[in-house]
Amino acid sequence: MKILVPVKRVVDYNVKIRVKADGTGVDLANVKMSMNPFDEIAVEEALRLKEAGKATEVVVVSIGPAQAQETIRTALAMGADRGILVQVDGIVEPLAVAKILKAVAAEEAPGLVILGKQAIDDDCNQTGQMLAALTGWGQGTFASKVELDGEAVNVTREVDGGLQTVRLTLPAIVTTDLRLNEPRYASLPNIMKAKKKPLETKSAADYGVDTAPRLKVVKTAEPKGRVAGVRVASATDLVMKLKTEAGVL
Ligand code: AMP
Repeated sequence: MKILVPVKRVVDYNVKIRVKADGTGVDLANVKMSMNPFDEIAVEEALRLKEAGKATEVVVVSIGPAQAQETIRTALAMGADRGILVQVDGIVEPLAVAKILKAVAAEEAPGLVILGKQAIDDDCNQTGQMLAALTGWGQGTFASKVELDGEAVNVTREVDGGLQTVRLTLPAIVTTDLRLNEPRYASLPNIMKAKKKPLETKSAADYGVDTAPRLKVVKTAEPKGRVAGVRVASATDLVMKLKTEAGVL
């Protein structure tokens, strides 16, 4: 069984984001980019399933600029078998990504597609769900445990206040949550080996998908800075402030 893992190139999670002066988005000039952290977890899970003898091949796919090749190479260095770059410049919204992934899935016929639950740049949390809708496959979102069981997969999901386990017939779609696993680091020899692994480049047109944005970002703003706290003299003062200033009592 083949596993398809979509990996997105995003601003590294350690970078302190700056909003552009005109509010049209965030400043990407000279900013470190990395694989979306939830996608690292997705790659790790696919590799563990392959190592357990439950999958035969792990294929990673990224939709983005030429530099997204680096993201694919990172996944190959972790242990994925081959990569597909669907080269698109500029912003690609989740619907266009999902349409491309549907076409890739039609060609590759994976048993499982494992995505991140969310890309940390756009925070959309939409692509896996849209892909499930477009393919008609079952989806197990926010997975904290994935167990393949014959022609089905049991997915334990992190839901408010607890866990829920769903059983999906393959092919199926899983999106990863933080607690699913701890992704491995690529070793130097594996980074070298990854340079020789196959990486195919395609365009959105190859899959007949129009990637033109369907929405316009009206405004991007930084969160308001925190104001300094005050020390109150007594519990009575505190209650008064909560009543009169904070308006929470
Ligand atoms: P989102 O719906 O944008 O929050 O993204 C959820 C997940 O979809 C990500 O964690 C990736 O697994 C996948 N994804 C989103 N955009 C892309 C992209 N441009 N290329 C590859 N995978 C993507």
